[in-house]
Amino acid sequence: MTEKINKTEEEWRKELTPEQYRVLRQKATEMPFSGEYEGVMTPGVYKCAACGQELFLSDSKFDSGCGWPSFFQPASEDNVDAQEDNSLGMRRVEVTCSRCGSHLGHVFPDGPRPTGLRYCINSVSLKLDPKEE
Ligand code: FE
Repeated sequence: MTEKINKTEEEWRKELTPEQYRVLRQKATEMPFSGEYEGVMTPGVYKCAACGQELFLSDSKFDSGCGWPSFFQPASEDNVDAQEDNSLGMRRVEVTCSRCGSHLGHVFPDGPRPTGLRYCINSVSLKLDPKEE
């Protein structure tokens, strides 16, 4: 069981950049095709930009064409939480970091095999730790 991180919004605001704070803590969405990891296929581990928990592996990243980094599965089911999001007049499933509760993006049922899922994640919510070779 992961130890949860509970920080006040004031603490988060100090630690994160304004753009990170807007997305991770206020659930904003970065502009499509604007994020630093959108077209990146570098091998490595994508960690939570807020708390460093491992979220997605480059092996499960695919080019969905949607404008945001897309993964067909998380690094571990325990590391992300999913909850219904009915904001903006849409029915979506929001994905958050299980350790710090920060907003990552949404998951949609139109991904490739083997899972059929597309985790559509803001680049701003991620920090790539490239694999050393
Ligand atoms: Fe986190």
